[in-house]
Parts: sequence; structure tokens; C-alpha cells
Amino acid sequence: MSIIKDKKTDPNKILPMKYLWARTYYKNGVANNWTPEEVSMQLDVEQWKSPGVISAKERELILLNLGFFATAESLTANNIVLALYKHVTNPECRQYLLRQAFEEAVHTDTFIYCCDSLGLDPDMIYSMYETVDVIKAKDEFVVGLTKSILNGNFEVVDTNTTQMFLRDLIGFYVIMEGIFFYAGFAMMLSLKRHQKMVGIGEQFEYIMRDESIHLAFGCDLISTIIQENPEVWTAEFQQEIVELIKHAVTLETAYAVQACPDGLLGISSSQFCDYVEYIADRRLLRLGLPKVYHTPNPFLWMSEATDLSKEKNFFETRVTEYQSGGSLEW
Ligand code: FE
Ligand code: MN
Repeated sequence: MSIIKDKKTDPNKILPMKYLWARTYYKNGVANNWTPEEVSMQLDVEQWKSPGVISAKERELILLNLGFFATAESLTANNIVLALYKHVTNPECRQYLLRQAFEEAVHTDTFIYCCDSLGLDPDMIYSMYETVDVIKAKDEFVVGLTKSILNGNFEVVDTNTTQMFLRDLIGFYVIMEGIFFYAGFAMMLSLKRHQKMVGIGEQFEYIMRDESIHLAFGCDLISTIIQENPEVWTAEFQQEIVELIKHAVTLETAYAVQACPDGLLGISSSQFCDYVEYIADRRLLRLGLPKVYHTPNPFLWMSEATDLSKEKNFFETRVTEYQSGGSLEW
């Protein structure tokens, strides 16, 4: 039995299980359940509508992040259902993919809720992935890694097609959810630290908690495929992945610099670039690849301020503690 492309696996027989970690991620996801309506947008609406509270540049930052995430969540959901699900034949992994797809629907719902409560123009927000170059470049980069898998005739049959499948997994789990989401997380949580748009900030904290599990599941899936098919993890392919991640870092730093020009929120653009490099090194290590940047974390508060298990009471009756252990900043 193997985790993907296993013709002998009966996808309807989840017991007995082989990959217990997939089951654990499923249970952790369920334990973290939340919906955007549980977070009040009252203060955000007041701040958004009163002149002078949120500066013009802060408004641009918020709109750019809402524009990026509004469509990125759907891109991720569609990748699970249309590209991944068919080929991940193991039933407990499929159970997790269904859970993750639901969470992406919750995240998509969050941006509907934000648009509705702030009275934003949906055409403007939902066309940003076509009209704003720094967003378009990120999305096109990830979508480019998955195109060949979306072809209905694609099957994982050999080294070449296994590597194509891994490119999709790395594109979505490591680059989209693991790198492209993180400058935005840092910006929105930084606003919240300044008592600005605290409702959206809290929703971003819950999204980040979910994403940290998506990312961990994705990396375990990738590692398992590599363990079961070691011939695909060639030096050349490893180098290709390092180059993909380096390119992703340039796209994410361009996004961060445009969204958060110097001086905004007391953070310089170069700190965002450092943060993206620090995050990228963590992702490389998680894939068993060497660090590229060796950049220290400029935002220690990202690990501290978002530890929901310690300081949040809001969901305490439902989420007793953060299920993946330790910091959210996976
Ligand atoms: Fe998401
Ligand atoms: Mn996700």
C-alpha cells in the first residue's frame, strides 16, 4: 500500500489505517473549528468608516491583502478537489483533504464576510488577482506548477509524473500556503497589534492556525511520497525545488514592499523581506533541504502574539488548546 497512485487501495475502506498522522491532522482540524461570523466586525466597521483612523496607506495595505486572500483561498480549494484528490488514493489522507477543503471554504467565507461588513466593492477585490501585478505574479507562479495535473488525462505513473505531482504539492502547500500567505499574515496581525481592524486581525489569526496544519499535512504528504519513491528525489530535482522557493521569495518580497511601504506600522520594508526569507528557510528545512538565507526572525511577536492557546478566551469553550502544539507560526 502506498499513499498515492495505489490501484490496490480501496478508497472506501478507511480502516485499518496506515498513515495515522493524517488522521491526527483531521482531528486537529476539527478541534479548531470556527466560522467568521463568530468574530465581531463592529469595531472594524467603525474604524473603516470614520475618517482619519485608518490612513490611506493602511487602507491600501488592507485592500491588497483582502484582494490576495479572497481568491487565493479558492485557488487552494480548487487545487485540492480538482488536482490532488483523485491521485491521493489513501483513504485517511482523503479524509483530511475533505476537511481541508471545508476549511478553505470557511476562509473563502471570511473574505465574503469582510467585503459585506465593510461595504467593499466585490468587483474590485475579486479582480485584483488579474489587475494587481504583485498578486497576479504569485498566483500565476503557483498555477503554472499545477497546470499539467489539471489535464484530465494526467496519471502518476513514473518518475516524471511523480515529480510533476510533487511540484503541485510544493507549489500549493509550501509556496502558496507556506510562503505567499505569510507576509499578509504579518501585516494584518501587525495592524491588530496597533488596535486597528482587530476583527479582521482575529480572523487572520484563525486562518493562520488552520494554515499551519495544512502546511504540516502537506509536508508530511510530500515526505511520504519521497520516502515511498526515493528515485524521484534526485539532486537535480532538489535543486529545482530550491530555485522555485528562491523565486517565490522574490515574488513575496515584491508583494510585501508594495503592500507595506517603509514606515507603515513602524515596520520597514526590509523587515518584511527578512521575514519572508526566515520563513522560506524554515520551509526548506522541513523538506530536508538546506537553508538558503540564514536570516533571523525579525518578527518574534509573530510566534508569541499568535499563540491562541495561551491568550485567547474567545474560543476557549470550544478549542481548549492549540492542537498542533506550541506556536502557530509553523
Ligand atoms: Fe486557507
Ligand atoms: Mn489552506
